[in-house]
Amino acid sequence: NLSDRLEKSFKILKGQGMITEINVAETLKDIRRALLDADVNFRIAKKFTDDVKEKALGQQVLTAVKPGQLMVKIVKDELTSLMGGKFEDVNLTGNPTVILMSGLQGSGKTTFSGKLANLLKSKKGRHPLLVAGDVYRPAAIDQLKVLGEQINVPVYTEEGNMDPVKIAKAAIKEAKNKGYDVVIVDTAGRLAVDEQMMNEIAAIKKAVDPEEILFVVDSMTGQDAVNTAKEFNDRLDFDGVVLTKLDGDTRGGAALSIRSVVEKPIKFVGTGEKVDAIDVFHPDRMADRILGMGDIVSLVEKAQEQFDAEEAKKLQNKLAKNTFNFNDFLKQINQIKKMGNLKDVMSMIPGMGKAMKNMDLDDDAFKSIEAIIFSMTNEERENPSLINGSRRKRIADGSGSNIQEVNRLLKQFTETRKMMKMVSQGKNMQRVMSGMQ
Ligand code: GDP
Ligand code: MG
Repeated sequence: NLSDRLEKSFKILKGQGMITEINVAETLKDIRRALLDADVNFRIAKKFTDDVKEKALGQQVLTAVKPGQLMVKIVKDELTSLMGGKFEDVNLTGNPTVILMSGLQGSGKTTFSGKLANLLKSKKGRHPLLVAGDVYRPAAIDQLKVLGEQINVPVYTEEGNMDPVKIAKAAIKEAKNKGYDVVIVDTAGRLAVDEQMMNEIAAIKKAVDPEEILFVVDSMTGQDAVNTAKEFNDRLDFDGVVLTKLDGDTRGGAALSIRSVVEKPIKFVGTGEKVDAIDVFHPDRMADRILGMGDIVSLVEKAQEQFDAEEAKKLQNKLAKNTFNFNDFLKQINQIKKMGNLKDVMSMIPGMGKAMKNMDLDDDAFKSIEAIIFSMTNEERENPSLINGSRRKRIADGSGSNIQEVNRLLKQFTETRKMMKMVSQGKNMQRVMSGMQ
């Protein structure tokens, strides 16, 4: 399974000091293979590993953390963001709110309709009405009736009426009359996507204008799930995905792929046949599930904090002694980039605003600065006064910039160093540094 594979691939990294192109390549290959095995679409797996690579390369591996663990953290964050980042709830603003189920036969629509009704009733104090819109199979109507009885939620049916559009409209009218505030419309599915099914559900959509169209999909169907999701989304432009049968050790690959392909949030997961086997979808928990190693992530986060605090102390000493050099500068750039909004960060540092005024504070600006610093030798970085005219030319050539740019950076660096020395002697140092880290 995916977790085992990832765990195994991370072992390769153990005992290496820094994540580099070479030691990461093998791991990335394994991660990609593992994702493909878990039914993640090829294109998505490739993009995923490219993103992870970009984030991992050059990351200094902390003393307290092994590279494999750092990779786990990077992979987890990336998985989480690929699955939408955060939980998205259903829209319940309608009067009544209409929720329409879509999906293939056997995906779990009827079961999920009952689960959702039960959840809204017991956790959100709602008054749902279930609607039996799968009119072709008497057994389907009975199935919904049984569910309704079990959770004590009424089920709207019309004996002999074979028109789900009319039934759905009548059910909404009934809900208005009787004060039900959520109408959950179960529909018929087929074993494969076909025109008639699509036409029918599109007609229901048009007639009742639902607040939420949920696409229900069996997570065990793997790659097929992605294609089906795409076809339904092209036709219905649905609002959210329900991933069913995610119990036991079902692979989570479908969650990854569907989210990326249709760009719609996964809102719920079904985790069993019982009516309370429903969960709202949390991307970070799903990432944990896929990785299967929750504890490592918090360990890495903790170590990261320690690392930052340690670095801050070192930097503080250097500033006071005026030995701040280009390697420190690089580290600072990395720290700042991690924090996001640069202008905010800079504005917290007294006097810094002025020194940074002429710099464009975005990542691109840092890129050219980094390129120049990367073209310096380590001696030059540690002792910038070494950098004479011929060295400047070499650095400019090496970084694809020109001498003026190199001069500008050196000047900025000297000014910054001066500024920082002043700041470091001020009373606010502690606050400034804790703000920066
Ligand atoms: P529909 O045809 O889309 O309405 O699908 P059903 O709701 O009838 O479900 C089809 C089968 O899948 C039934 O046997 C359900 O009990 C089962 N099922 C639905 N959701 C889940 C789930 O989350 N986990 C498991 N293990 N089985 C489920
Ligand atoms: Mg059904």
